[in-house]
Amino acid sequence: MLRTTTCGALNIQNIGESVTLCGWVQKSRDLGGMTFIDIRDRYGITQLVFNMDDNTTLCETARTLGREFVIQASGTVVERSNKNLKIPTGEIEIKITALEILNASKIPPFLIDDETDGGDDLRMKYRYLDLRRNPVRNNMVLRHRMAQSVRRYLDALDFIEVETPVLIKSTPEGARDFVVPSRMNAGEFYALPQSPQTFKQLLMVSGFDRYFQIVKCFRDEDLRADRQPEFTQIDCEMSFIEQEDILNTFEGLIRTLFKEIKGIDLPEVPRMQYADAMRLYGSDKPDTRFEMQFVELNDLVKGHNFPVFEQAELVVGINAKGAAHYTRKQLDELTEFIKRPQIGATGLIYYRHNEDGSIKSSVDKFYNEVELQKWAAAFNSAPGDLILILAGAKDKVRKQLNELRLEMGTRLGLRDKNTFSALWVLDFPLLEWDEESGRYHAMHHPFTSPKPEDIALLDTNPGDVRANAYDMVVNGTEIGGGSIRIHDRTLQALMFKHLGFSKEEAQKQFGFLMDAFEFGAPPHGGIAFGFDRLCSIFAGLDSIRDVIAFPKNNSGRDVMIDSPSTIDDKQLQELRIKTDLK
Ligand code: ASP
Repeated sequence: MLRTTTCGALNIQNIGESVTLCGWVQKSRDLGGMTFIDIRDRYGITQLVFNMDDNTTLCETARTLGREFVIQASGTVVERSNKNLKIPTGEIEIKITALEILNASKIPPFLIDDETDGGDDLRMKYRYLDLRRNPVRNNMVLRHRMAQSVRRYLDALDFIEVETPVLIKSTPEGARDFVVPSRMNAGEFYALPQSPQTFKQLLMVSGFDRYFQIVKCFRDEDLRADRQPEFTQIDCEMSFIEQEDILNTFEGLIRTLFKEIKGIDLPEVPRMQYADAMRLYGSDKPDTRFEMQFVELNDLVKGHNFPVFEQAELVVGINAKGAAHYTRKQLDELTEFIKRPQIGATGLIYYRHNEDGSIKSSVDKFYNEVELQKWAAAFNSAPGDLILILAGAKDKVRKQLNELRLEMGTRLGLRDKNTFSALWVLDFPLLEWDEESGRYHAMHHPFTSPKPEDIALLDTNPGDVRANAYDMVVNGTEIGGGSIRIHDRTLQALMFKHLGFSKEEAQKQFGFLMDAFEFGAPPHGGIAFGFDRLCSIFAGLDSIRDVIAFPKNNSGRDVMIDSPSTIDDKQLQELRIKTDLK
């Protein structure tokens, strides 16, 4: 080895030892008679000292070192007179007796430091330099530790890690597939997996019983903020289980991660029906770090000639505790916020519960103090509270109030990154109406089992059929989701029929799975967690990009390797892809 130890290992105990270190030049200071070099590697930073009186040539070489030069330096560990107690090696330095430049470096385009002067684009173009920085590398270390923890937990429970193919056939799961042309089968394409869904189910038919994989998945979606075209799932499947078993097993996984990685004892994860989540939070992924549940007011407010409320399907509000001091200006800001096109509400109604117990509303013309006291009872409001109310069509107004609730949560400091609140959301609808195509889509995916007691509704009220499907939500972010699967050919065929597949289409696309169900498919179910998202939450980051070593930018580009890129005509010809379409 070129070194005897790392740049993070030496301390006062090592005084007098002869050592050799390798690393990158972080910083150098030339004080005339003495030159100090900070040498950095993955493990830390150590100060090297060169003394003109001891060795002039060596000192002169040291002066030529530029930032990020790679060097090998040997010497003796000595106590520092000027100690830096902020770093583990800060009490010592190395008196250098030999120095070798292993490789020079151009001046890096941005500071390799915890706080860098590099903008996003530059950092991504030179991501390998960005990854030298502690915060970025620490995210990768965290990710590694989480992956190991996941493997240990699942391995101990007899899960087998199986790799499934990356060149597959399209599985419709809502998003567009990335496709890969096949040279050997002209005119035909593979698809990259959106998830290993069908393969993990086939592994259950094969009797693997418990499967997992930390696996890349690919979705060709229009890039919304913080989506990556390729991302990683912790993908899992189990046989001979019921929903309850999946919930317990994977709640265990998440709690183990919190314990091992963050030292946090996550309490038992509460459960909520999808319908309740929508009613109380207007979202299937409520942020439960704070309460502020919706209160529906239809019964109290109708019949008072206030047109906005009279015409609304739903009048619903939230109690922003302690916000009665909000000024006119702040309320105007909130009104602006909900009127933005992304949210699209028409107006905000509010009341202040004053310190003296009186109530002042924006609709005093229509509701007297007695009426308003009834509202106060419904909201359980106390002096000092601010109540915000929206009205409109049910689904829309719930969505809008969800946004307002999150905004108020943020404004009132209720969404601390270091507080964690997990939730299971259960009993999702099986189907979702899609306006654009004018038909039902599978809300989770077409392999999800309807609740047996709801199957009869498939013909009459398809939208009311509930699925054995569940999501895990942490701090308002969906971190995982799964379902109990259909394992019976007839039911699977019925499902495809309801999703608008002809018999032939269903057979062509999923015949392999339905055929497999005829050879002794066990009851089974599973779940997949978004590993990048989980890592970013654990790291306290807003973006998943920061926990991915080589991420793509918001246009789906890797600016470092410059991909996607064109390919030459010869390649196109071999793939039988026409070039005149551009
Ligand atoms: N394959 C599903 C997904 O990617 C997860 C599951 O049902 O296990 O969302």
